[in-house]
Amino acid sequence: MNQTGIERRSIVAGLGAGILSASLPRPLRGQAMPRVVVIGGGFAGATVARFLRRSNATIDVTLVEPNATYMSCPFSNLVLGGLRSLDEQRFTYEAVVADGVRLARTAAEDVDPAGKRVTLATGDTLNYDRLVVAPGVEFMWGALEGYDEAAAERMPHAWKAGRQTALLAAQLESMEDGGTVVITAPASPYRCPPGPYERAGMIAHYLKTNKPRSKILIFDAKERFSKQALFQQGWETHYPGMIEWIAVSMGGEVTRVDPSGNAVITDFETVEADVANIIPPQRAAAIAHRAGVVDASGWCPIDPLTFESTLQPGIHVLGDAAIANAMPKSAFSANSQGKVLAVQLARLLAGATPIETVLLNTCYSLIAPDHGISIAGAYRPGETALNPVDGAGGVSALDAGADVRALEARYGADWFAAITTEVFG
Ligand code: FAD
Repeated sequence: MNQTGIERRSIVAGLGAGILSASLPRPLRGQAMPRVVVIGGGFAGATVARFLRRSNATIDVTLVEPNATYMSCPFSNLVLGGLRSLDEQRFTYEAVVADGVRLARTAAEDVDPAGKRVTLATGDTLNYDRLVVAPGVEFMWGALEGYDEAAAERMPHAWKAGRQTALLAAQLESMEDGGTVVITAPASPYRCPPGPYERAGMIAHYLKTNKPRSKILIFDAKERFSKQALFQQGWETHYPGMIEWIAVSMGGEVTRVDPSGNAVITDFETVEADVANIIPPQRAAAIAHRAGVVDASGWCPIDPLTFESTLQPGIHVLGDAAIANAMPKSAFSANSQGKVLAVQLARLLAGATPIETVLLNTCYSLIAPDHGISIAGAYRPGETALNPVDGAGGVSALDAGADVRALEARYGADWFAAITTEVFG
């Protein structure tokens, strides 16, 4: 990463903070308190709930989330690398509640868009003026032949952090030195485009330290991947010969898995893995389907300025579940979208028009403990899509020195501390 890249990034990061305070309309007097219900307390939902309530105490905000604590996927690959504990991935909703957000500790079961009502798993209902659907992703069980919920107990996905992460870590721990770890990466779109490749590096770090004769095969349903040249250069530097990436054109597409033999099967070969990490195809989580905001793609089309569903007026979709075009499905994107939507919702509820916005994303990935890389982008809502802002993004420079990689590793850690404090702290 050269100096210019870092400066450019800090300039675009400044844009997001400015939007919020400058643009909030004053609450209208004598009106009933508008009600916003947010389904899903992840990076997207917890951000919008918190920022909306903080900036406008005259809006009644209820966050619906079944889990008592949130388990962060970002940095969960570092748990596999032996660099952090799973407990460090856990965050509570105490600060969100302290900001005045009501927390409904249960799942949303159904949505009635016409009646503007959410039915909860408890049987209770919540009426809303505006609904935010931010439930993340669900796995398309069975889309990859042989891979269902039972198979995930033998061949973990670890693509929702928590028990699955612990299961994959335990399998790596009990593997013999000289074993083969298989990672399968799905076709796009899916949660966290660089995630499978960061995972490969983190697993390689663990193996290099503990089981150096082992090997990692990545079977990929794609021809290329995010930050590819940087990842491959980093793998060669730290783990020469340990990671083999198989593109779709080289037979990377997995057609079937067989959990009984831990086998990954393509049109060309069957590999019996010692540890198989299957990252399955994904789509918007179930409640989005029930709310009627999902199209044939399996994801939720939105108005790029307000994140309002193009299928159901009054319902906004955020985070991984939404079709945000050029914006990747990341926690950074989800957080940026949450802050922008807090502004737009406050305006819409006050009868004001939405404002022009710029949204941001940076994805840091760790290849080794002192080797970080990143990709950054800024996005502006167009007529029908969120488009990249020309010249506002960039990736780490390919041939940067070890000092720059170490600095980026630190930036990544600082980013994680900052975003989790902002959303949950
Ligand atoms: P989620 O974080 O999944 O939150 C959704 C919430 O909705 C959950 O709490 C869930 O319990 C709740 N929910 C679901 N259904 C219901 C319902 N019916 N009722 C009520 N609540 C419901 N992103 C980065 O920016 N940087 C990274 O370094 C990074 N690393 C990653 C590494 C891995 C291994 C993975 C898998 C992902 C990574 N990501 C990273 C991506 C990031 O985790 C997601 O993009 C982000 O979590 C999306 O936020 P979200 O709020 O849309 O969904």
